[in-house]
Amino acid sequence: MTPSTTDRDVTAGACSVVRDYEEQFADSRTLYERAKAVIAGGVTHDKRYHRPFPVYAERASGCRKWDVQGRELIDYWSGHGSLLLGHCHPAIVEAVRKQVALGTHLGACHELEVEWAERIVRMVPSAQRVRFTSSGTEATLLAVRLTRAFSGKDVIVKFAGHFHGWHDHVVPGWLPPFDQPPGDGILSDVTANVRVVVPNDASAVEEALSPGDVAAVIIEPTGGAFGAIPTDGDFLKQLRQITQRFGVLLHFDEVITGFRVAPGGAQEHYGITPDITTLAKIVAGGLPGGAVTGRADILDRVAFHDEPQRDRYRKVAHPGTFNANPVSAAAGIACLDIVADGRPCEQANAMGALLRDGISQLIARHSLDWRLNGSFSGAHLAVGRGEPGSDIPLDKLLQSAMLLHGIDVMHDHFFLSCMHREDDIQQTIDAFDRSITLLKKDGLV
Ligand code: PMP
Repeated sequence: MTPSTTDRDVTAGACSVVRDYEEQFADSRTLYERAKAVIAGGVTHDKRYHRPFPVYAERASGCRKWDVQGRELIDYWSGHGSLLLGHCHPAIVEAVRKQVALGTHLGACHELEVEWAERIVRMVPSAQRVRFTSSGTEATLLAVRLTRAFSGKDVIVKFAGHFHGWHDHVVPGWLPPFDQPPGDGILSDVTANVRVVVPNDASAVEEALSPGDVAAVIIEPTGGAFGAIPTDGDFLKQLRQITQRFGVLLHFDEVITGFRVAPGGAQEHYGITPDITTLAKIVAGGLPGGAVTGRADILDRVAFHDEPQRDRYRKVAHPGTFNANPVSAAAGIACLDIVADGRPCEQANAMGALLRDGISQLIARHSLDWRLNGSFSGAHLAVGRGEPGSDIPLDKLLQSAMLLHGIDVMHDHFFLSCMHREDDIQQTIDAFDRSITLLKKDGLV
């Protein structure tokens, strides 16, 4: 299939994919050099790290974005999954424009936060009460604190490969190898209270719950990394039964799946109601924002009771300068009103199925040992290590090859929006075909 590695130059510059990338995205390299002098690590999110350098984008619309050189790209980052309605949906642009002029932070309670929460309660089956945060990470942080306070127990059970944000209470078992400590700067005293179990294994869950010290089980309901490690409704049903039997709270982290899988999230789709749910991304219409929702008796642990001892020691504290920020609230309301009829989810899900089908066929046609997972409006590639023809990992080389063909994939994840159309999917499948051909020519697969 490929020339032997010994007769090949193993430097990145030897690959035509890297050479072409460096040439065609030269202005991004210039920006990256500037960034490295002032931004730690050069990038502002670990997922945006790329080799030899990331692409710098300037603007976006619908399912497309344009880089700093004006190159048009079909976008599959979709705002890290937050843009189910695509970039710059007119209703969201208008809602934000209007609110910015009225005040970006009112330092007060405001009607929009009530309207926003009312929509969440209407749409999400588990939602009886809502509390807003600024991000998904903050949402899971608050939810973990609430479940511990409510249950009086310390241990959180989570699944290997499931991502719930980057605070110490949820990072164990996120990055492979899953049984190893999460990394520097993370307190082992905290992670000692997190029990990581193998996904989709009901008896492993029972074993993890049996000591009787567990506050909650947290899960991404369609599987780790939005279904890159799939799970299904049967396992969710078992999990609901097991948690009920053990008297342990069930926490669905619907930061991605909420309002994406269906208007009421994965819990609506599967008909399984968790005790507590975390939301972010789509809930704020693609602006910063998140929420914790669920049973009133759990959420109300943040409430004041006007009893000094109780409020000081038994209330769950939850401040946050940008909680329910009015601009995010305005965008969130506009977004949820459009999502409510289910059509955006259906369109994005249909395009996801089309894309997965096309990519799977190409993987088979090119006889690659790559894996494609995903459900609903997501597709996730596992490309393996490839041939050692470059010091740049194969997934990043594929990402560069796709960019050269006008497609911007989030590492190995595709997030669909309702603005992706059949033409865009076909263009993406063609680009995938040509990218594989290019990598083969370079002897990298
Ligand atoms: N939970 C899940 C399931 C997520 O996918 C993410 C982000 N990708 C988070 C939590 C953290 O959200 P944020 O990036 O807004 O902190």
